[in-house]
Amino acid sequence: MAEDADVIVVGGGLAGLVAATEIADAGKRVIVVDQEGEQSLGGQAFWSFGGLFLVDSPEQRRLGIKDSYALALQDWIGTAGFDRDEDLWPKRWAEAYVAFAAGEKRDWLRAMGHRIFPVVGWAERGGYDAMGHGNSVPRFHVTWGTGPGIVEPFERRAREAQNSGRLTFRFRHRVDALAITNGTVEGVSGSILEPTAVERGQSSSRRIVGEFTLRAQAVIVASGGIGGNHDLVRQNWPKRLGEPPKFMISGVPEHVDGRMIGITEAAGARLINRDRMWHYVEGIRNWAPIWPRHGIRILPGPSSMWFDATGKRLPAPLFPGSDTLGQLHYIMSTGYDYSWFILTQSIIKKEFALSGSEQNPDLTGKSWRMTINRATNKGAPEPVEAFKEKGADFIVRDNLADLVGAMNALSGDNLLALDQIKSQIEARDRQLTNPYVKDAQVMNIYNARRYIGDRLIRTARPHRILDPERGPLIAVKLNILTRKTLGGFETDLDSRVFGNNGEIIRGLYAAGEAAGFGGGGVHGYRSLEGTFLGGCLFSGRNAGRAAAKASG
Ligand SMILES: Cc1cc2nc3c(=O)[nH]c(=O)nc-3n(C[C@H](O)[C@H](O)[C@H](O)COP(=O)(O)OP(=O)(O)OC[C@H]3O[C@@H](n4cnc5c(N)ncnc54)[C@H](O)[C@@H]3O)c2cc1C
Repeated sequence: MAEDADVIVVGGGLAGLVAATEIADAGKRVIVVDQEGEQSLGGQAFWSFGGLFLVDSPEQRRLGIKDSYALALQDWIGTAGFDRDEDLWPKRWAEAYVAFAAGEKRDWLRAMGHRIFPVVGWAERGGYDAMGHGNSVPRFHVTWGTGPGIVEPFERRAREAQNSGRLTFRFRHRVDALAITNGTVEGVSGSILEPTAVERGQSSSRRIVGEFTLRAQAVIVASGGIGGNHDLVRQNWPKRLGEPPKFMISGVPEHVDGRMIGITEAAGARLINRDRMWHYVEGIRNWAPIWPRHGIRILPGPSSMWFDATGKRLPAPLFPGSDTLGQLHYIMSTGYDYSWFILTQSIIKKEFALSGSEQNPDLTGKSWRMTINRATNKGAPEPVEAFKEKGADFIVRDNLADLVGAMNALSGDNLLALDQIKSQIEARDRQLTNPYVKDAQVMNIYNARRYIGDRLIRTARPHRILDPERGPLIAVKLNILTRKTLGGFETDLDSRVFGNNGEIIRGLYAAGEAAGFGGGGVHGYRSLEGTFLGGCLFSGRNAGRAAAKASG
């Protein structure tokens, strides 16, 4: 039977776009199928903050940050905690990926017009020892233009390939099965969904209006993870993180449904590390939701005080921005699935960033004028002020008694005692009398401010939380927000998928979140951040190049 293309890519997110453009550039014919409409091209990456993990970059060097492959690999390995037999390929991917991030990643993107905001962020700072979790140095490079800025070069290349006839998009084509003959994947089949006029990111109809079958020499599964499907998240929730939360919000659109992962697994592909996932604990309900249960993650600076639902301060080193899964584990151990930040206007103004392209119009719109306002403005960035005013999880009061009363009213649990909260804040505030302290969080703030990037735009000058000059006081109820899937299909460095018998499945490749960003779990248990988009770039590129080479 004639082939419709050399390669079929399932999913027009970042991983799929990267793979498809590499195939087209190698002179091969490629079809990209996506269940969503054309308006959602780029998948999650469009909504992302565009943060990229880079090692020893010119941006880091300009800020005086000394980084190296050895240091980054030490951090990666300490963070990943690889400890399973099936971590063989994930670990190989990790070594290759850190080398990519320390090597050609930045130049490769730059040659396509990608640019980086000059202040490098410091995500996942850890707080354990040198071999433990976290980034020893700032490595989170925000794309100038955020998510759309990372999608743009690949969409442009894809459109060029489309114009020259090497790439075809099939939107509203939902793959329901892989076609396999004698152990070789030869194509896909599925349903054509009715046309949709929903806005990008909104849920679209699943009404079927037809069927399709497509044949090719290879299929690349780049269908994303499971974060939009809370049933699957709960089903795969690992015991080590406690019980699955009763209430969660979604950090991803509904199309991140995990359905294609089930279909590919049913076809014999080996899915590993499905219990590893990356969800945030600083989720706030979006007052202007785009997708169902839409939540936004606060990217917090280090100064907010963090309390569990019962009013106990989180133990060291679980400070804002230190250890996402450590915090998740602690919070779930309290028996409640939420926690609280208490902070001041001075802290929110300097330290709150919201993850997502639409929450950062200055960086997304590439406006230097608006971006500079971050450092000079009286208030927080506009989207943060809007949340403060309209967000269901924000409380603003000018005294602590009223604040705690409103916190109890918001949760409905009435667990917080004013005296208990007050004594903890006063104790912390007393630590600010000397420039040396015993409170580990305050030490951490001094440490952060020794990095010029943090001092400029991310870490407020240390001050007393109860200083009225710094007010009003703000409390934020923090929810658990689903986002990333760290496990996935086991692949070799060419992104070829292994079957359950340990043999490569001929004609089948996986990339991006569906492949655990490479190998079936390049992150191990934890991430250093900015590694997901980068994982799509690296695994998508490897998949595209290898599939193009293999197709005759
Ligand atoms: C708000 C937000 C902020 C983020 N910020 C960052 C950041 O700063 N740094 C970072 O590294 N990462 C970030 N991420 C994560 C990152 O964006 C994603 O992990 C990554 O973009 C996933 O890309 P993907 O191509 O693997 O999958 P997706 O983007 O999910 O794309 C998969 C595509 O496959 C399609 N599909 C699925 N099943 C089928 C099927 N059966 N048939 C046909 N099509 C199908 C879907 O419709 C979708 O278009 C962020 C994510 C979000 C949502």
